[in-house]
Amino acid sequence: MKKSSGQYWDETWNPIVGCPGPKASPGCQNCWAENLAGRFHDHDHSKLEFRPEILAKPLEWKRPRRIFVCNTADILNPWVSLEAIDRIMDTIYKAQQHTFIFCTKRPENLSRFLPFELPHNLELGISGCNQAELEQNLNDYFAWAFETDNFPFLWLSLEPMLGPITLDNWLGFHREFIDRVVIGCESGPHRRPCKIEWVENLVDQCRENDIAVWVKQLDLKGECVREIGRFPKHLQIRELYLP
Ligand code: SF4
Repeated sequence: MKKSSGQYWDETWNPIVGCPGPKASPGCQNCWAENLAGRFHDHDHSKLEFRPEILAKPLEWKRPRRIFVCNTADILNPWVSLEAIDRIMDTIYKAQQHTFIFCTKRPENLSRFLPFELPHNLELGISGCNQAELEQNLNDYFAWAFETDNFPFLWLSLEPMLGPITLDNWLGFHREFIDRVVIGCESGPHRRPCKIEWVENLVDQCRENDIAVWVKQLDLKGECVREIGRFPKHLQIRELYLP
């Protein structure tokens, strides 16, 4: 397996910032992006802002990059206009040298991507912070995928992991559609615990089923640890893809 370290992206690109409306998930309770916006007064997180002036930015980057799109927002927040989605997708189609990474806590809104066939240079992340949320979100995702015949590279963002999570219900027929699992504890001063055995069990399950795993950060004795060298040896795993 190809191994890597650090983050699973090289660059962020935020043509949309802010995430208004009702919180989408228990994982939003200590929203990292909201804290960041409050600290740097860069924007008001409770308001959505579209920044068309940076839409062309990825086209200027010649070296291929992994680009996280809107990492302080959710592109499927219903406040995001269809025009904004259209223009973001247009850049992604044109910038074929890059890989673009989306993550959403609102897969029930995936039809907002239509009429697009999702580009091949896009990795779609579906989020789940506990078992119930993951089940709901994957049900929504697969309903959309089969209805529209869209099967992008799929990764699961199990972060913040707030309870034990198993992929039991998704390892039969659906297994071939799941490409990567990213696991991480919550960060910030109000972080909630993430037990190491939850992470271990999920990593084992991914290993047994040939799913790439990226352990992003761990709750070690109440501290959110990001440096992989401080992880227990068996959890020092950061894989982008299977060979
Ligand atoms: S969806 Fe993401 S950006 Fe929006 S409030 Fe939740 S954690 Fe924050």
